[in-house]
Amino acid sequence: MTEIPRDELQRQVRLHLLFLKESGVDALRIPRRAAKPVRGVPAVPTGPADDSDPGRALAAISAEIGDCTRCRLCAGRTHLVFGVGNPRARLMFVGEGPGYEEDRQGIPFVGRAGQLLNRILEAMKMSRDDVYIANVVKCRPPENRAPLPDESATCIPFLRRQIETIRPRAVCALGGVAVQALLETTVSISRIRGEFRSLPDGTPVMPTFHPAYLLRNPGKKKEVWEDMKKILDLLALEEGP
Ligand code: URA
Repeated sequence: MTEIPRDELQRQVRLHLLFLKESGVDALRIPRRAAKPVRGVPAVPTGPADDSDPGRALAAISAEIGDCTRCRLCAGRTHLVFGVGNPRARLMFVGEGPGYEEDRQGIPFVGRAGQLLNRILEAMKMSRDDVYIANVVKCRPPENRAPLPDESATCIPFLRRQIETIRPRAVCALGGVAVQALLETTVSISRIRGEFRSLPDGTPVMPTFHPAYLLRNPGKKKEVWEDMKKILDLLALEEGP
């Protein structure tokens, strides 16, 4: 018998549940029966799959990054912006890179785009403490330019390790740089926004517009809200009735 890897199985179940939801099924009854212990068969853990401490694991990644000089962006930074939020977040937001205010404070999304992200979170009935927020690059590019490919390539392994540690149920990629870096694609954001894609381990990724883009194009907020509703639907499905 071929064994299906756990991540792939989870991905398939998630897709099937989404399919059911889109077909009008909005509740499933699952009997809450305790599994009988079978001698010789190890009990299936019911808690988190990995009981290690993701907060400590994140701190270890941060320590490994240290006072980073792996790429040229270190030259202009005030603070390295590692990421903030709940180490067990079910939803993670990934942006492009720190701007002026983020570099000054060492915290992602605290400038004008961050205030808009806070309002989006509020509309989702969430707070910054519920989610985890990080960027593709951890140091501010000069003049707020987009990170260069080699800068993203140097930094993104750390972001991937943050995602693997937090194991969110979904990642929301904010803007073209985050979408292209996470999904390793060159497809433009306007072509793939609003449709779930996945990371190699099956984690669903929702590509959407960056809040800074929304500040310049408020008419696009409606589309982003549609994307957020899809994320909320996915999280609600995973939570069960
Ligand atoms: N834009 C980003 O992409 N990230 C931030 O942290 C702030 C603004």
